[in-house]
Amino acid sequence: MRQQLNRRSLLGAGVALGAGAATAAVATPAQARAAQAADAADVVVDTVVVGAGLAGLAAARKLVAGGKKVMVLEARDRVGGRVHDVSLANGGTMERGAQFTGPTQTRLQALAAELGVRTFTGYNTGDSVYYTADGTAIRYSGALPPMDDESYQALGQAMYQLDTLASTVPVDAPWTAAKAEELDAQTFHSWIEGNVSNDTARTILHLISNGALSAESRDISLLWVLFYIAVSGNETNPGNLTRLTSTLGGARDSRFVGGPYQIATKMAVQLGSRLVLKAPVRRIVQSGGRALVVADGLSVAASSVVVALPPTLAGRIAYSPALPATRDQLTQRFPLSSIAKAIAVYDKPFWRDAGLNGQVASLTGTTRSTFDNSPPDGSYGALLAFLDGDQARAVEERSDATVKQAVLDDLVHYFGAKAATPTEFVLGRWDAEEFSRGGAPGFTAPGVLTRFGTAIRRPAGVIHWAGAETATFWNGHMEGAVRSGEQAAADILKG
Ligand SMILES: Cc1cc2nc3c(=O)[nH]c(=O)nc-3n(C[C@H](O)[C@H](O)[C@H](O)COP(=O)(O)OP(=O)(O)OC[C@H]3O[C@@H](n4cnc5c(N)ncnc54)[C@H](O)[C@@H]3O)c2cc1C
Repeated sequence: MRQQLNRRSLLGAGVALGAGAATAAVATPAQARAAQAADAADVVVDTVVVGAGLAGLAAARKLVAGGKKVMVLEARDRVGGRVHDVSLANGGTMERGAQFTGPTQTRLQALAAELGVRTFTGYNTGDSVYYTADGTAIRYSGALPPMDDESYQALGQAMYQLDTLASTVPVDAPWTAAKAEELDAQTFHSWIEGNVSNDTARTILHLISNGALSAESRDISLLWVLFYIAVSGNETNPGNLTRLTSTLGGARDSRFVGGPYQIATKMAVQLGSRLVLKAPVRRIVQSGGRALVVADGLSVAASSVVVALPPTLAGRIAYSPALPATRDQLTQRFPLSSIAKAIAVYDKPFWRDAGLNGQVASLTGTTRSTFDNSPPDGSYGALLAFLDGDQARAVEERSDATVKQAVLDDLVHYFGAKAATPTEFVLGRWDAEEFSRGGAPGFTAPGVLTRFGTAIRRPAGVIHWAGAETATFWNGHMEGAVRSGEQAAADILKG
């Protein structure tokens, strides 16, 4: 899909970077750099977008609509980034990466509707099962596993406390929260252990960290968790923990018919030859209010750049001049979570016959969280199994075949012998993908948001930052990615 580029004709059009510098008898270092940059450019556009995930694609689309000449440089041989569906031999499609959407994710759903991609509510009929630490199965209906009154009250109180604290955290500047210093000086783990005396409630809160943030409670700053709760909403609906963690009525309420990858590929089709694949960006040189973006095999000059990557990947690009230290230090401290995702495909969703909805939460096993991932018409069955946080880390050195077997052993334990023989098996090991290096969300450890957070969206010269990890609503989600891209484009269009 790489464009056939004619460097000489583009430069010959007289729009080369720093043309003025070439007329001076002697040059300042800045002029010399600009002239060098002009010489190095293969293409000149108004804005270069780095990364063709949902954020980069949404940014490019809006910039094009605003009349800008745009080029998108994507490292992989496909678009979508952490959104990627695969075709099955049975003719269906399964989501290797992101899949769920829910209430208040308005921009993503509006974009999908505009592109002709519909949503459907995930399968929720029947019982969920909770597996205790000793492997005992407890069937239940509703949002929470059965527990005694004292545990129920303790959990409710802790969730209320977290929501109340989250309501004090501004979504666009969490580091300005009234108690930001105190909240950012502790992990979620230390808060749970110090504030919740009931064993069951503590266990469920640690499980929420693993399931909803794909990270262990000891990894994450309490301020980050509160921010992540606060952004689980939109301009008119403040975020709350229940929406963030729920299936029905929450972040995992619905899926896209045919998968969300279509949202990315349809935007890519609209961008046409403005999109260049297999072009990892290695260097961004700024000079004289312009930038030269250097990818493998292609250099593009522009008056603005949108880097639509998770901070940790943005930090792997070389910048000249160097970025402000706060920004660089932020990218050194903003990891993506550890996540793998497996989907076992069957002829039928056989667990439904046993009155199960496919949802398991377990305190042991390689996979501790499962969902019914069958298509809307249930014409075949699919069980989705997450490996979050420590579970993803534990299998890092293991082959795909052994991970598959470990997941199937768990599925047999949860759903019976029929789970042992899927017709197909999909495995996404996101930590091992060069251009993801982890899943979602990104998160920060104590001390990061309050010391380095201000650099998350602050432009560096002509470089604007986008990506789900920069979003002020549904940060770390597809909704956040779309919003962040559109926001960066709006900022550029505003000038
Ligand atoms: C397993 C998994 C499950 C998820 N589940 C959900 C879910 O159910 N619902 C939900 O809303 N979200 C979910 N997410 C999160 C969601 O996928 C992301 O928040 C969102 O897709 C991020 O989009 P993005 O454009 O910001 O970043 P990315 O998708 O990471 O896009 C960045 C792009 O930049 C490219 N790139 C990287 N480096 C370079 C470089 N140097 N030069 C050029 N290009 C580069 C990458 O190849 C990629 O295409 C999930 C993520 C994973 C991994």
